[in-house]
Order: sequence, then structure tokens, then C-alpha cells
Amino acid sequence: MKKKLYIGGQWRETEDYTELFSPYSNEKIGEVPKASVQDVEAAIEAASGASEAMEALTAYERAAILDQLVSLFIEHKEQAARIIALESAKPMKYALGEIERTIETYKFAAEEAKRLSGEMIPMDAAKGGSNRLAYTLREPLGVVAAITPFNFPQNLVAHKVGPAIAAGNTVVLKPASQTPLSAFLLAELLDQTDLPKGAFNLVTGSGRSVGDVLVESDKVKMVTFTGSPTVGKGIRDKAGLKKVALELGSNAGMIVDEVVDIDLVVEKAITGAFSNQGQVCISLQRIYIMENLMEDFLSRFKAAAGKLRIGDPLDPKTDLSAMISKEEQERAANWVQEAVAEGATLVAGGTVQDGVFQPTILSNAATDSKVSCQEVFAPIVIVNPIQSVAQGIDEINNSDFGLQAGIFTNDIKTAFNASKKLQVGGVLINDIPTFRVDQMPYGGVKESGNGKEGLKYAIEEMTEMKLVIWNQS
Ligand code: NAD
Repeated sequence: MKKKLYIGGQWRETEDYTELFSPYSNEKIGEVPKASVQDVEAAIEAASGASEAMEALTAYERAAILDQLVSLFIEHKEQAARIIALESAKPMKYALGEIERTIETYKFAAEEAKRLSGEMIPMDAAKGGSNRLAYTLREPLGVVAAITPFNFPQNLVAHKVGPAIAAGNTVVLKPASQTPLSAFLLAELLDQTDLPKGAFNLVTGSGRSVGDVLVESDKVKMVTFTGSPTVGKGIRDKAGLKKVALELGSNAGMIVDEVVDIDLVVEKAITGAFSNQGQVCISLQRIYIMENLMEDFLSRFKAAAGKLRIGDPLDPKTDLSAMISKEEQERAANWVQEAVAEGATLVAGGTVQDGVFQPTILSNAATDSKVSCQEVFAPIVIVNPIQSVAQGIDEINNSDFGLQAGIFTNDIKTAFNASKKLQVGGVLINDIPTFRVDQMPYGGVKESGNGKEGLKYAIEEMTEMKLVIWNQS
């Protein structure tokens, strides 16, 4: 139950520990080390020391290590899912889904390790460039610090550790304080692979104290962060000239045009708005629907939300469980009350029942209510009427964020126009903005961050391009 830090391939005790409790049952589920500044420095040192060994590995060897990890995750699938359900209250069916995706992510990382290559540069295309042969190489950066959020404690870690190993980097991982147990399992599994000792290190503890040491260290060559915009901006300010990739929040929106199958939209919107208690960076938060469809949609949507099974995350039938903390559930309830006071209609939910914040639907929410313009990160969705798709596009673009957006339409021109006008990192035609598979390029604009994940793209971020020119004259 008492965990140890993983530094330089050794399990290391610390002086301070934090008790960890399950958000749903409040049962104590572990004791997690609070890394000291010296522990974090030792982890950076170990990662730096292992860089040479990582760089010496061939692509074949890096891919083989990732393949070993894939096999271990397949072997430990149930255990890994149960840990996620316990520490984050993610319902078991979604936790298992997350492990399936984690396995896919590491598989893609293994494949991409073998594809990592540069390109030929046609030097003689420039007047003075003749008689030269030139090509680019992709070289690892060295130590990558990975800082990850609570909502996908295994797969979002995989999106950093997978490409880092594929590219030949070493890693110091700082997982979310609420969900560190998944990261300890990862360390245990990686320890059984042929990864050079020190190439993966795990430090836990408070975000700021561990984070600051990682972010400010000269030995760390890149910080890859997924989390809230506030923390992300702070990291950027402190990181100096090192590379920083930021995957931040959003208030994802979707437009429903006139010509669609409403039942399909309802089914997808339920998944988009309520899976993982709405604690997904691309959770469906704002629906803009043509006014003539609104009443029918709302009644079907409310009925479908009412059928969701609420309760214990360990029960395989549960659809929705507790949010990450009581404080977060209180915040969600307050935001709903504020929205209602500002003119919204509460269609469903809005309160905590049996320890779980209910799936909540609001209609006609004001543009400047928090549930509209900030990231709600709770099972809350607003449904507002629009007179035209152009109005829906304006509503979605009227946001500090821009991660993904969806539009349901049967009209090709409307879809094409929306794909051009929506100010987001990804546009989903006839789908919810919540759709993601792990190899696709993924990342936002505006306050949703910079840089792209998706294995091939993350590897580009985690390598330096070097140019080699052979003068043949
Ligand atoms: P958070 O920002 O509170 O924490 C993220 C990580 O940062 C944790 O490991 C935390 O301990 C650490 N941290 C906290 N303070 C720090 C500091 N001062 N310096 C360095 N690290 C620090 O986020 P969260 O509550 O865990 O996750 C929710 C947020 O993550 C939401 O905003 C969500 O949209 C975002 N998110 C984005 C994506 C994406 O791919 N764009 C995916 C998942 C979650």
C-alpha cells in the first residue's frame, strides 16, 4: 500500500507520505510518497545519466521495449483498470476502455519508433546549392519531463512516455496528485522490460514543488504538460528556453443543423457530455441546435440522460460515478445555480445524489455564464437554440478555447464551410467533439494549448531536426 519513488531503476523511500482516498467510497487506497527537492533532482540526474544508453538503442530495440510493455499491459488489464476506477472513480467500463486505448497507444509508439526518419533536401533547387547532398536526422532531446492530469491517468501518461521512448529520450514523470497509482503500476511494468535503468523515473508529490524543480532544471530539455490552462501558463513562464508542449482545457461545442437523425445525435451527445463525469478535455459542453429541433431534442436527451446508471465505479454496469472530489462537485453545483440565476433553464440534474453529481442539462444559458464560457469539467451540458449554422460557428468561436468542435449536417457545403471557419485544432463532421483515437494529431489553439499529440506528431515535438550537408565539389 505504501508506494516508493522510482528513480534510476531503484525503488526509493521518502520521509513524507500523503494518504490517498477513493473519490467515490472515501476508502483509503494508498500512501503516496511526497518527493523532496533532492528526490526530484536525483530523478533528473538519473534520466540525464541514462540518455547515452537510450541514444545508443536502435529503433528496433526501442520498439521491442514498447512491445514488451504492450504485452505486460495486456496481462495486467483488469488490475490496471481497477486502479483507475479506484483512484479516479472512472466507471469500470470506461476504465477498461482506457486500458485498451493505452495498449493501442504503446503499440502505435512501437510502430512509430521504426518509422522515425528524416528527409532528403534538394539543395540544387537553390542557385548556390549545387553539388551538395543533404538530409535531415531526427535526434532525441534528452530528458523529457512529463506532467499529467487526473482524468486519464494511464492513457495520457502513455501519450508522453510512449513517444519519448520511441524517440530515444529519457523521462521523469510527475503524475496527478489525485491519481498516482496508475503511474506506479506503469513503473512496475517498465521495470520488467529491457528499458535502460534511469530512462524512466517516477516522482510524486505536490504539483508546484515537484513541478517547479522539473520545469526550471537546465538538464530537462522539454516539458510536456497536460492539464489546466492556469498551470500550463505558469509552466510556460518558468520554463525558460526549453521546449514546452501544452495540452490544456476547452469548452467544446457542437452544432446541430436541420437535416439530421436526432436519435443518433442524442446517443452521441450522451457519451460526449457525460462519459467520465464530463471530466474530459473535449467533453461536449455546448450544443447549438437549430431552433425547430430544440424541443424534440431536449425531451429525448433528457430521457436518455435519465437512463444512465449512477453509482459505484467498480460495478461494471455503472455509467456515471463521483467526480474527482467533493469540492469539484460543489463547484459544479454552484455553477449550475449561477447559470439558472443568470437566465438558464435547468432541464435535468444539477445536484449531488448518493455522492454523485447528476448528469445535468441546461437550456438557454447566457453566453457569459461560467457554464458557457469557462471549462466546466463536470457532467454539465448546455443546449442553446440557433437560427443558422453561421450563428453556431460564431458561438463556438466566441471562446477562449479551441480544442475540437463537431457539426451534424447532411449538407456538404455547410460542413465544408464549418471546417474552414471553426477556430479549433480538430473539426468533426457528423460527430461529437469528444471523439479521439490515439494516433490522430490532437491539440488545440488559443488557450487550449500548443503542440500536437498523437504518436507521430508527439515524436516530432520530442526530437530535434539536424541537417547534414555533404559538399561533393
Ligand atoms: P491540473 O492543471 O490541476 O494538474 C495537472 C498536473 O499539473 C498534475 O500533475 C498537477 O499535480 C500538476 N501541477 C499542479 N500545479 C503545478 C505547478 N505549479 N507546476 C507544475 N505542475 C503542476 O489539471 P487536472 O485537474 O489534473 O486536469 C484537468 C485539466 O486538464 C482540465 O483543464 C482538462 O481540460 C485538462 N486536460 C487536457 C487534455 C488535453 O489533451 N488537451 C487532456 C486531459 C485533461
